[in-house]
Amino acid sequence: MERTFIMIKPDGIQRGIMGEIISKIEKKGFKIIQAKLFEPSRALVEEHYEEHKGKTFFNELINYILSGPVMAMEVKGEFAVEVMRNMIGDKDPKLAASGTIRGEFANSMNTNVIHGSDSIESAHLELDLWFK
Ligand code: ATP
Ligand code: MG
Repeated sequence: MERTFIMIKPDGIQRGIMGEIISKIEKKGFKIIQAKLFEPSRALVEEHYEEHKGKTFFNELINYILSGPVMAMEVKGEFAVEVMRNMIGDKDPKLAASGTIRGEFANSMNTNVIHGSDSIESAHLELDLWFK
């Protein structure tokens, strides 16, 4: 069974929609097999977003993720990586389909509520990083 790394970002926690997001994941039939609500270190978040180091939005992205607690989760289920990405929706609010989590809850590329691993390989790396 496939596993993926999901993180509810600080705006999702601050807005009080954590329960609603978790409920969608559970209702889809996925199992949350590990979870922690905490404030990650800068080093952890920079490593998580290493692929974006050097891009114009990198510092803003890191400071946003460090702006409050996040809910880090290991989610398990059939094709969990791809199905969760589809449920999350596009990072661009103009492209995020209504019915997706971002389509419903996010209106900005800078604060977009939730992260999900984009491949099986990144899921392995991210789960090792966040739950080591
Ligand atoms: P995430 O990795 O956070 O789940 P994603 O996989 O949908 O999002 P990525 O391309 O990995 O999108 O970008 C990571 C994050 O960086 C995005 O969620 C967004 O907040 C920010 N970001 C990406 N591209 C841009 C951009 N062109 N301008 C501003 N912010 C951006
Ligand atoms: Mg990404």
